[in-house]
Amino acid sequence: MHELSIARSLIEIASEAARKDGRAVEAVHIKVGALSGVVPEALTFAYEIATEDTILAGSKLMIQHVPVRIFCHTCNCEVDLPGIQSFACPKCGQRSSDLVNGRELDIISLEVKDS
Ligand SMILES: [Zn+2]
Repeated sequence: MHELSIARSLIEIASEAARKDGRAVEAVHIKVGALSGVVPEALTFAYEIATEDTILAGSKLMIQHVPVRIFCHTCNCEVDLPGIQSFACPKCGQRSSDLVNGRELDIISLEVKDS
């Protein structure tokens, strides 16, 4: 399960930031692109297991889904794709491999307890 190793590296980065901040982390917000190859449910599950006995234990992983976005040269604009099966512009049908979004797997922010 490669989600576990992804969870571990996210936890590594987040706990580093949490240690510097010094406050308890309530949630870690991340962005997961449709093309990142990550199954969000599996990542959430892996996160819960991998945070046990860490500074992040009990915190939630909040996943923001990022759709695939391509640049369509016919419409001359960026369009979101409804899925990852076809890289064709939903407006005009023109295929494009100009990827704008969809591969991300990044930490956006840490949510900390106010105290
Ligand atoms: Zn188009």
